[in-house]
Amino acid sequence: MAQTLNISLKFNHLLFNSLLKQRCLLCSAQDGGEHGLCNGCLNDLPWHTAPQCPQCGLLSNGLVCGSCLNTQPHFDATHSLFTYDFPVDAMMQRYKYGSMLNLSHIFGQLLGKKTNLETVDLVIPMPMHPTRLKERGFNQALEIAKILVENHAEKLDYKSAQRQKLTPPQASLPLKERVKNIKGVFKVSENLTGHFKDKCIAIVDDVMTTGASLNELAKTLKQAGATHVECWVIARTLPK
Ligand SMILES: [Zn+2]
Ligand SMILES: [Zn+2]
Repeated sequence: MAQTLNISLKFNHLLFNSLLKQRCLLCSAQDGGEHGLCNGCLNDLPWHTAPQCPQCGLLSNGLVCGSCLNTQPHFDATHSLFTYDFPVDAMMQRYKYGSMLNLSHIFGQLLGKKTNLETVDLVIPMPMHPTRLKERGFNQALEIAKILVENHAEKLDYKSAQRQKLTPPQASLPLKERVKNIKGVFKVSENLTGHFKDKCIAIVDDVMTTGASLNELAKTLKQAGATHVECWVIARTLPK
């Protein structure tokens, strides 16, 4: 009897501990820290900190790169948390396909540390077409943006810009076809003329590869009057 009580107390103690402290998502170490990752795993992530082009986030000597000088993107700056590399690529796949939805918290909180909400008027998560939203059940960029703006919920705007055309997913296309695929895809609600006028906007997205979607949305927002548009992304794909 005493032994049963002992075991049951021990079990309650373990349960209590695991509720208080979540384990590290990557290595299962006991201390998952404030972001659900232990310090070792957090430090080992591929942080996107190498000298880079401030406009597109690709590696450079820290100045605007040749590609941006040649063809000016419509967005003015890019802030990426990670380079799209292991294990962030694996985490992103699990996040997007729904088996690790709570990664939105880690991504949103860390992106919040890298960026400054005070510098923008609006935060717009990359819009998803209603058909895709129905298939997936959630918009991965919106879930991250919700965490990011936690204390400035008034800045979140996920309705005014929409995806009006259903196109094949960018990731399914060769890099060269992505610009064509995304052309004219976004629209701004007509009854919102003036909504974006003179605004500084951050577009939140999960992964930036060619930047074609971000560029097209930035173009749409600038045509609607925005003066400054930045890309705030979780991971930047670097050319191999
Ligand atoms: Zn760990
Ligand atoms: Zn660049």
